[in-house]
Amino acid sequence: MQTVYSFSCHIHSFMVTAQGYPHNVKAVFYPFNGCIKFFLFSIFPYFFAEYDCILFVYMVYLYALRRFFIMKLTFDHYYEYEELTAAVKAMAEEYPGLVHLESAGVTPEGRDIWALSITDYATGDHSEKPAYYMDGNHHAGEVTGSMACIYFAYRLVTGYGQDDKITALLKTTTYYIIPRISPDGSQAYLTSPEMLRSANRPYPYPTLCAGVQPQDLDGDGEILMMRVPDPNGEWKIYDKDPRIMVKRKPDDIGGTYYRMFPEGMVKDYEAGQFLQPAPAKWGLDLNRNYPFGWFPEHRQPGASAYPLSEVETRSVANFVLAHPNIGSATTMHTTGGVLAYPPGTRKAASAPKRDIQMYKEVGEMATVEMGYPIANVFDEFLSDQENYSSGAFDDWMYEHQGIPCYTVELWNLQQRSGAEDRWPEVNKMTEDQKAMDYLKMVKWSDENLGGKGFVDWAPYDHPQLGKVEIGGLKFKFVFQNCPNEYLEQEVEKTFRFCLRHSAVLPHLALKSVSCQKAGDAYCVTATVQNTGYLPTFITASAQNLKIDKPVKAEITLPESAKLVIGKQSMELGSLEGFGGVDTGYYYGTIATHKSDPTQITVQWMVEGAAPGSTATVSFSHPKAGSVAAEVQF
Ligand SMILES: [Zn+2]
Repeated sequence: MQTVYSFSCHIHSFMVTAQGYPHNVKAVFYPFNGCIKFFLFSIFPYFFAEYDCILFVYMVYLYALRRFFIMKLTFDHYYEYEELTAAVKAMAEEYPGLVHLESAGVTPEGRDIWALSITDYATGDHSEKPAYYMDGNHHAGEVTGSMACIYFAYRLVTGYGQDDKITALLKTTTYYIIPRISPDGSQAYLTSPEMLRSANRPYPYPTLCAGVQPQDLDGDGEILMMRVPDPNGEWKIYDKDPRIMVKRKPDDIGGTYYRMFPEGMVKDYEAGQFLQPAPAKWGLDLNRNYPFGWFPEHRQPGASAYPLSEVETRSVANFVLAHPNIGSATTMHTTGGVLAYPPGTRKAASAPKRDIQMYKEVGEMATVEMGYPIANVFDEFLSDQENYSSGAFDDWMYEHQGIPCYTVELWNLQQRSGAEDRWPEVNKMTEDQKAMDYLKMVKWSDENLGGKGFVDWAPYDHPQLGKVEIGGLKFKFVFQNCPNEYLEQEVEKTFRFCLRHSAVLPHLALKSVSCQKAGDAYCVTATVQNTGYLPTFITASAQNLKIDKPVKAEITLPESAKLVIGKQSMELGSLEGFGGVDTGYYYGTIATHKSDPTQITVQWMVEGAAPGSTATVSFSHPKAGSVAAEVQF
C-alpha cells in the first residue's frame, strides 16, 4: 500500500512531466466528476502487487488516470517556441475529438508553422463545415497576436460541453488557427533584446550596413534609446519632466542639446562623423509579400524578392487555398487598438457597398467586445495614400480570395494612458503634443507598472562616442505588446469578438422536405435555406472575381427508380444571408425591400420507386456546409 500511496502523491508532477507539458501547462485534477473514480483507481494497482503483470497494470492505470485531469494553460507571459509547441500538442492530445494539429510548413531554422483545425469531429470533418480562419505573427515581434490565437483555441476546446454557444458553434463550424506564422522571428524576438519586423534573416542587405546598429550595450536585456550630447543636436530635455525628450524649437540656441539613436554601436565608425542610424538588418516584412498589389523593394520596403517568396507566406497561402471552406478571417497584429479592414490599396468607396457595410456591421461587435474602433486601411489607416502599403495578407484574402479579413491591431498603450490617439494624423501633431503624449505613457507606467515600463536615463561610457546616456520607454513589452499583467485581459476580449465573428458564416439548413404521390410518380420537394448572416458567396468581391460557387442539390434514388423531371445533380446559384436582406427603419416605420432570397425550393419527379424505398436529398456548398435528408416513397 505504501507504494500506491506515494505513487498517488507524486501523480500530479508525473502527469505533467509524462505528457511533456512545459511549466505553464498544468494537468489539473478535475474534482467534480473525478473524485470517486480517482479513489477507486488509486487503490486499483494494489490488488495486483503480487503478480508479474504489475508493470502492465500500472501503464493501463496511468493512461486511464489522464482522463481525470484537464489541461490548464496560463496567459501571464509570452510563449517561446517550445512552450507554444507543447501547448498546441497538448490541446491536440487532450482533445482528439476536437483538435487536429499539422505543420503548415517548416522554417529555415527548422521550426514548424503549426496549424490547428478545430471542430467537433463527431458531427463531421473540418473540411465539411463553414470555417473561420485566424493567424498571428506575420510580424514576429507582435507576439500578443500569437497569444490571442492560442487563447482562442484553448477557450474553444475547454469550453466545449461547458458553454452552450461554444459547443453549438463547434458542432457546425471549423476554426483554422495558425498561431505563429514566423516562429524563427518570434523566437529571436522573445529570447534576445532584438526588435524585428518579420524574420531574423538578413534583408535587404546581406551584411550589416554602416551606421548605428541597435545593440543592448549595458546588458539590461533591453535595447532602449541613446541620447548623445551634441551642441548641434535636434533634441532637448522636456521642461515638464526631465525623463522626456522634446524637439528643439527653431529659435533654441545656446542650450544643451542631444542627438537620439537606438542604444547601439556604430558600424564603420569614424571619429567625428555625422551619426546616422543603420538600415534594419532584418528588414523583411511578411505582410508585404502577398501577391495582391505586390511591389518590389524600391516601392515597398520589406516586400522581398517576389510574391510568396518566403516559406512563411507560402505556407499560409497554401493553407488558405487548401481550405476553400474558409469564409471569414482575422489576422492578429499589434499595436494600435483598432480593426483595420480592406481595401488597403484603394478607397473604400471604390469597393462594393455591401462589403463595406458588412465590414462595418461585423466590426461593431469588435467595438462592443474590445473597445476598439474599426477603420478602413486605405482611407483611415495609411499615413501615405500615394505610396500606400501593399502586398498585405488582408488585401490578398479580400481582393484575390473574396474572403473578408480584419487586421486586428491589439493593445494600445496610448489609449490606456489617455494619450490622444491621433493615428493616422500623427504627422499633424505638434512636437509639444507628441512629448505630452509620451509623458502620459510614462506616467501610465509609473501608476500601473510601478514605473518598470520606463528606464531612467543613465550615463554610459560608449566605446566609440564617449559619454552618452541610455534610457527611455521599454518598447517590446510595454508599447508594442501588452505587459504580462495585461495579456490575459487583452486576449480574453479578443476571444469574445472572434467567437461572435465566427458566428456570421453562411450555413445551409433544410427548411422542409417531402415526398408526395402524384399519379404513378412521386414528387420530391425540398427547400434549403441559408441561416447565416453572410451570403453563400460571402462577398461581392468574390462575385466580381467570379470565384463564388453555387449551392448544389443532389438526389440519390433507389435502384428501380428514375427521374422524369429534374436532374440528379443541380446547381442552384447563391443564397443570400439575413445580413443581405434590404430592410431597415424608414420614416418612422420599418420597410423591407425586394431582395434575393435566403432560400430555394427544388422539385424532382420520380417514377418506378418501390413503396417503402428511400431516396436521399442533399445540398452542399463549399463555404456553407452541407445537409441531407431521407425521404420515403
Ligand atoms: Zn503588424
